[in-house]
Amino acid sequence: VSAPVFWFLGLSASGKSTLARAAIDHLRARGGAGTGVSRWELLDGDTVREFLTPDIGYGFADRRRAVRVMGLLAHTLARQGIGVVVANIAGFQDLRAFMRANIPGYVEIYCSCPLSVCMDRDPKGLYKRHLADGLGDVVGLDIPFQEPETPDLVVDTATVSLETSLLVVRTFLDERGARGR
Ligand code: ADP
Repeated sequence: VSAPVFWFLGLSASGKSTLARAAIDHLRARGGAGTGVSRWELLDGDTVREFLTPDIGYGFADRRRAVRVMGLLAHTLARQGIGVVVANIAGFQDLRAFMRANIPGYVEIYCSCPLSVCMDRDPKGLYKRHLADGLGDVVGLDIPFQEPETPDLVVDTATVSLETSLLVVRTFLDERGARGR
């Protein structure tokens, strides 16, 4: 039986990492209680890039590859009974459909936030940097972000406070943590 894979997606600065980190803390603190899954791994885009850089960049094709690599890692861990929380933009509808079809415990959590708000937040200075260096490769500007059509949970991080967003995520995990989808 595959463990759940909770995939947080959304634009850069939409709140994926923040909510994914809170999710993994919550799931680990809960231990195996009622779920049978006692080990949880966090797969952040940056973690994966530590191993792939400089052989992977931020262009269209490389971003697609990164999604597939994270999907493969998540799938492999989940098959061994290790629960996974992923934080990745994942703006490609076909790849998300592929994950849903191929990862039994796949659960999609959409951090919904307008690009303008994300660009204002810009906690890592990513929008500023990419716009300044003229290279483009900004998801939402140069690379299209396709909104998820069938997310399992939507957190509207632009209008809902961080505190409430965390509560919404924890409640959802408590309901779904045991069985994934
Ligand atoms: P991402 O991983 O999507 O690039 P981060 O989690 O790194 O985004 O950054 C999101 C920023 O937005 C953080 O500074 C976070 O504190 C802030 N933020 C404000 N409101 C929310 C919310 N409701 N949910 C998540 N993050 C929020």
